[in-house]
Amino acid sequence: MVEENLVIIGSGPAGLTAAIYAARANLKPLLITGNEFGGQIAITNEVENYPGFDSILGPDLTEKMRAQAERFGTRFEINEVTEVDFTHGSPFLVKTYSEEYRAKAVIVATGASAKRLGIPGENDFIGRGVSYCATCDGFFFRNKDVLVVGGGDSALQEGLFLTKFASRVRIVHRRDSLRAGELLKTRAAANEKIAYVLDTALEEIRGNGAVKEVVAKNIKTGETQTLDTDGVFVFIGHYPNTQLFEGQLAMDEQKFIITDQLRQTSVPGVFAAGEVQDPIFKQAVSSAGQGCEAAISAERWLAAHGVK
Ligand code: NAP
Repeated sequence: MVEENLVIIGSGPAGLTAAIYAARANLKPLLITGNEFGGQIAITNEVENYPGFDSILGPDLTEKMRAQAERFGTRFEINEVTEVDFTHGSPFLVKTYSEEYRAKAVIVATGASAKRLGIPGENDFIGRGVSYCATCDGFFFRNKDVLVVGGGDSALQEGLFLTKFASRVRIVHRRDSLRAGELLKTRAAANEKIAYVLDTALEEIRGNGAVKEVVAKNIKTGETQTLDTDGVFVFIGHYPNTQLFEGQLAMDEQKFIITDQLRQTSVPGVFAAGEVQDPIFKQAVSSAGQGCEAAISAERWLAAHGVK
């Protein structure tokens, strides 16, 4: 059993920013990365709204944050947390596949994961035409036809990215208007490779080894059609990664961790930051800000409990 002042769970902007602040406060934090270092921003192609950068690639932004956290003394364990026990108060038990920690304070920054459509064929064709990451898989769709499902900023931003490879990108959205912001809508409208299939929900993904077609239903008319395509990229939002903490931390009805203004959870000494506790803003910069808040709160809480 290894004793730690502060364990940070998660390596997205919230966790890495918490690490920078906690390390600068001399807490020598341990950050447990999870199995996807950097979280969602690390699989985002271009980030144009992170202050200080006109444009930066998601992986590059992640690497800068990681290096900054390390420079100030953060230690990283590339591993997944398999179990926590917050029920007996501080020190808290945090277990990974290879280690057990007793942490005086914990910051939960486990982020959110891509939602799935939940339709027949979806799971069967993941990696064979169904994808949740344009940055990871776009390259495989050079001169191919792809569908993008969703009507938010992610659908348009990632759809625009896919036009670098694909011959045609059709945005399939269940309403007749998009939720995405004006800038992205204008850019998409100016891109000849982008087309829209509105008022439409996918009902099934079919193929033979790889995706070949989808069954799509017009929600207004009830009509069903088959669309030939090589790929289906799904960008329909995210759910918070809170399964580990169920029954231990208070959550809302959507399973987001409930925090107060100090990023304090229902358990004193356990803080949370980023999308795991934010159903509203969900931006890299707001997550980073919440990570900063959680680290400052953890530092004060630890000082009040005798850890300098
Ligand atoms: P989002 O804003 O929640 O949009 C999700 C989209 O998926 C909505 O259009 C929704 O339809 C649709 N949808 C949800 N469930 C569905 C289902 N089961 N079947 C079909 N469609 C479904 O999610 P997001 O686009 O990932 O964005 C998340 C946050 O990140 C937002 O705050 C966004 O502003 C931000 N973001 C910003 C940028 C940027 O600024 N450049 C880029 C990416 C993301 P309805 O519209 O009908 O609900």
